[in-house]
Amino acid sequence: MSASKCSRLSGALIEQLLDSVDSVLFDCDGVIWRGDQAIPGAAQVINRLKEKGKRVFFVTNNSSKTRRMYAEKMSGMGFNVSEEEVFGTAYCSAVYLKTVCHVEGKVYLIGSDAMRQELEAMGIPHTGVGADHIVGRQADWANVPLDPEVKAVVVGFDEHFSYMKMNRAFQYLSQRDCLFVGTNRDTKLPLEGGKAVPGTGCLLQAVETAAQRRAQTVGKPHRFMFDCVASKFGVERGRCLMVGDRLDTDILLGSNCGLKTLLTLTGVSSVADAEAHQRSGCPERQGMVPDYYVDSIADLLPALQG
Ligand SMILES: [Mg+2]
Repeated sequence: MSASKCSRLSGALIEQLLDSVDSVLFDCDGVIWRGDQAIPGAAQVINRLKEKGKRVFFVTNNSSKTRRMYAEKMSGMGFNVSEEEVFGTAYCSAVYLKTVCHVEGKVYLIGSDAMRQELEAMGIPHTGVGADHIVGRQADWANVPLDPEVKAVVVGFDEHFSYMKMNRAFQYLSQRDCLFVGTNRDTKLPLEGGKAVPGTGCLLQAVETAAQRRAQTVGKPHRFMFDCVASKFGVERGRCLMVGDRLDTDILLGSNCGLKTLLTLTGVSSVADAEAHQRSGCPERQGMVPDYYVDSIADLLPALQG
């Protein structure tokens, strides 16, 4: 709807944009919170949008929590949210394995306890969660006992990631019919005070490098997460807004799915990054140019208070 992309969203434009959509998809890290700190005003924005009849969903590549854990975290921060409105990669990966991969057998899971819970909720057996320390010598590592029922390797965020886990994944993935799925490729997880920690993308790349195979990924920018929301709630893409802090995941997902896009500057990407994509003239990079940007989603609040 904008004549020129990547323009600052302010004044009457905010109302125009909100009037043109029925559904709003929000990324979480760097958009509605940083670490355990809510972005000031974010809860009011979400709650007012819902009061005004907009449908609001949360699509996060972060695989460290179940839908229920996210809903609880949000409720604690004052967001009016239900579990069904949250689409994290722990949940979406389980849906993907079931409905797209039709996996039969066990999953070797490099991931969190949250991913374990979402797999179990979907009836998918698994092995691998928790610490896995190195024992023995190299010849022992190469002959590490493998579970013959494992038919897929799944990599998500795993604070216990280790050489032994990478080795086990490598051994499973040497079997060419073993499926290989990653939750997402984000290399950085933004936290409070401008701090960050390495993200799942770093772990996934380590396993991919070892196995010399590329994983299918579930998270943004791949459209599967939007399809998950759309199939469940019948979202009309032309009347849907994607709000995110990353150009290469959130904004690209929005572009890939034909949504309107809004970049918020409380997380990873900057306006300069977006302008560099725009100026590049490279068609593939144009999908990473948002329609609009705001300093924070709190900038939407004045238009919602009437
Ligand atoms: Mg983010």
